[in-house]
Amino acid sequence: MENFHSKSLNQVLLDTNSSKDGLSSLQSKERKVQVKDEKDYIKKNNFAFKFLQQFADLMIIILLIAAAVSIVIGIVKRTTGEIVDGCIILFIVIMNAIFGVVQEYKAEKSLEALSKLSQQEILVQRDGKILKISTEDLVIGDVIILEAGVILPADVRLLETHSLQIDEASLTGESNAVEKDSRIVCREDAPIGERKNMAYKGTVVGFGRGKGIVVALGEDTELGKIAKVIKENEKQLTPLQKSIKDVGKILTFLVLGIAFVTFIIQLLITSSSVMDAFLTAVAISVAAIPESMPAVITIIMSLGVARLAKQKAIVKRLHSVETLGCCDVICSDKTGTITQNKMTVVCGFSDQKIQEKKFTKTDTNILLMKSALLNNDTTMADEKIVGDPTEVAMTEFGLKYKVFKHEVDEENKRINEIPFDSKRKLMSVLTINASQEKVMWTKGAIDSILDRCDRIKIENNVIPLTESLKTEIMNANNEMSDKALRVLAFAYKDISDEEDFKEEKLIFIGLIGMIDPPRDEIKSAVKKCIKAGMRPVMITGDYSQTAYAIAREVGIAKDLKEVITGVELSKLSDEDLFNNIENYSVYARVSPEDKVRIVQALKKKGHVVSMTGDGVNDAPSLKKADIGIGMGITGTDVAKEVSDMIIADDNFATIVVAVEEGRKIYRNIQKTVKFLFSANLAELLSLFVATIFFPSYVYLFPVQILFVNLITDSLPAIALGVENPDSDLMKIPPRDAKKGLFSNGIGISIIVLGFFQTLYVVGVYVLGIFLFTPAIATTLAFYTLNIIQMFYLASMRTDVNIFRSKPHKNKFFLLSLLLCFGLTALFAFTPLRTILRLEALSLLQWGIVFGFSVVMLITSEIYKLVEKSIKAKKNQEK
Ligand code: ATP
Repeated sequence: MENFHSKSLNQVLLDTNSSKDGLSSLQSKERKVQVKDEKDYIKKNNFAFKFLQQFADLMIIILLIAAAVSIVIGIVKRTTGEIVDGCIILFIVIMNAIFGVVQEYKAEKSLEALSKLSQQEILVQRDGKILKISTEDLVIGDVIILEAGVILPADVRLLETHSLQIDEASLTGESNAVEKDSRIVCREDAPIGERKNMAYKGTVVGFGRGKGIVVALGEDTELGKIAKVIKENEKQLTPLQKSIKDVGKILTFLVLGIAFVTFIIQLLITSSSVMDAFLTAVAISVAAIPESMPAVITIIMSLGVARLAKQKAIVKRLHSVETLGCCDVICSDKTGTITQNKMTVVCGFSDQKIQEKKFTKTDTNILLMKSALLNNDTTMADEKIVGDPTEVAMTEFGLKYKVFKHEVDEENKRINEIPFDSKRKLMSVLTINASQEKVMWTKGAIDSILDRCDRIKIENNVIPLTESLKTEIMNANNEMSDKALRVLAFAYKDISDEEDFKEEKLIFIGLIGMIDPPRDEIKSAVKKCIKAGMRPVMITGDYSQTAYAIAREVGIAKDLKEVITGVELSKLSDEDLFNNIENYSVYARVSPEDKVRIVQALKKKGHVVSMTGDGVNDAPSLKKADIGIGMGITGTDVAKEVSDMIIADDNFATIVVAVEEGRKIYRNIQKTVKFLFSANLAELLSLFVATIFFPSYVYLFPVQILFVNLITDSLPAIALGVENPDSDLMKIPPRDAKKGLFSNGIGISIIVLGFFQTLYVVGVYVLGIFLFTPAIATTLAFYTLNIIQMFYLASMRTDVNIFRSKPHKNKFFLLSLLLCFGLTALFAFTPLRTILRLEALSLLQWGIVFGFSVVMLITSEIYKLVEKSIKAKKNQEK
């Protein structure tokens, strides 16, 4: 790589064929095409590999070997039965593998789409304009804008720096942020840590702002060189998948044990051959071992996550979906999340007077407006004012009084600045005018400004700021804040020496009050949240009265006692905070660091906490929370990077929607697990019981067992997974995070419902043996095992009674029915039935199959009622 750090800026611009205003859109397009061609060849979708992976399972391998052996024996003995059996097994295994690949592909696709949604974006300057693009679209020579919270997407040579500090720990291990300076030209042999005119991919802007020109991308960056092979996201199991896997292991042993016993019995007593007995044992193992469960759950989760994305909540880690469902405290910022972040100046205070609506152009007011426009980073793009909404409100305020930002900026050039940060709650700039007069302008939170002022401008005088004047200002501030206004204070001072550019000894000018109304949907979202057993908590940097006024309006707080300020919080020991944490619903004037203490105390109380954040300093609390929520619009890269979920519209209501969806997904997973485990149990138990009681007959042939498994395994499971559960989910408290998947009656219901299915299938089989022939009995058992599960599925779909379910709303359910009944009809009414060793059934016999299946449906419905009344009783006792 060329040593851009040791080159002059002009040389760098020449080398990258760019300019200080960035590339033209044509240049960037040409360069992008070049990069795309290089990248394309890397992207290959290896279908064949995925397909083969489906066979990497011991039981499947044994089954394949057994099928091959069966075919060979058939060929040697010249018996078609064995050849057909072997072929059918192969066919079913291949069908299963295809299902598996399709499922995986679907899951991957939706996860890929999600990762695209959470792709990093960056501000670039192109054609002299500032626009936001995906970091994927960056090219060499692009000029990017750096501000606090940006994670560098490329290596850049700095063009401009304003108090720019960069945390380079990820690259150099240096834990202190490095002060950057674009004016420096470094020695050629300067180590990375000393190159003050450069910023590297993966490092983070901690403070200040600046601009940089992209000189290296991807693997050519310093970071890329270290980690040449960029690791793909490792597929990690979520806790739920882990617990299912653990239960699966126990079940595997159980299945293998039963399969072995059946094998021995069949071998010793039944007329079946060793091969048949062995195949039966392997087939039942394949059918009853829930090896596909983790994959099915991934699909259900990723489908849920895709649904969430449509509702503007982008879940970055799958396991957060589980956690979402048990979240019981939602900690949320105020500005932009609960409020609209559309601010309008509605009143002010200057010359000891509150001014509502109309500002007269007094000396002080002109100074106030000037200050609001100079100490302001908004810009114009496509005739629109863009920037921080607080500052946009200032620019619009100026426009209203025909004081234009560009004109004021022209007359007073900015020569230095201390950017805003939410800890200081201040921002200052230093300007110089044509007469070479330097003025420092400071704006910020009233409590931060007042302590730094020693004088006040009243009309044409600047007089000492006495305690009584301070009280007057605070009273005006409180009066505005009580009306839910966001109040900003302004001050200035003339300075002769740049050394004096410090936020102290300032002259107070006045206050500006802005309205930032709550979002329309918040009131009902808060209501829903409380009804669902969750507590909304507001955590804001804003003033306590403003915060309380908004909190009261939307229903988060009812009493001023529920408000605590950052200062009060700092006086509480961790223990006091822990003991009183349930009393507070509004934390005002808190800094991001305080958020960590709040999360810690809430978690210690046993709550499952979600926390929103947008700034660099929010990262620790976002990490600490059970669900860190980054803001899609106002969030910095750092906040988005560490969070588990991003809400694209920065809206509190979206969090509530996400929790609801999280609950739905969990409920669906529970249903799926219930369905699959009880169905598997029925397959296993019925085989075991039938073999024990009728050892001299064949209950089901191996191909039949595999066929049942093919029809009743994944598709119905997914059908349950995409179900839209009953509306009462947000009327009950969140589930207890400590309780496992099989708690709350799920384990028992698997056993009870598995038992009833077994009872009915074996019942049909016994009837068949006594009323008809053993071959008819087998056919009856086969059809019943298939159809009973469809009826059971229909009942399982809803928690209320089956008549209230809407079958047409679930295409996977309809598809399951179609597959089951279609294939059943295909085998039942065509000669194909012989390859599955089935008999033709009479109307009466079909009546028995459907009759018992309906009985299962009724059983399941009764079970739902009993379960519901037991739960209601338990809740009452609580
Ligand atoms: P929330 O934490 O709910 O988003 P917030 O936006 O008020 O609330 P911060 O951005 O930390 O929180 O702002 C804290 C305070 O700093 C504000 O109440 C305001 O007084 C002051 N402030 C906000 N933006 C600016 C700014 N651009 N310049 C100067 N002061 C600001």
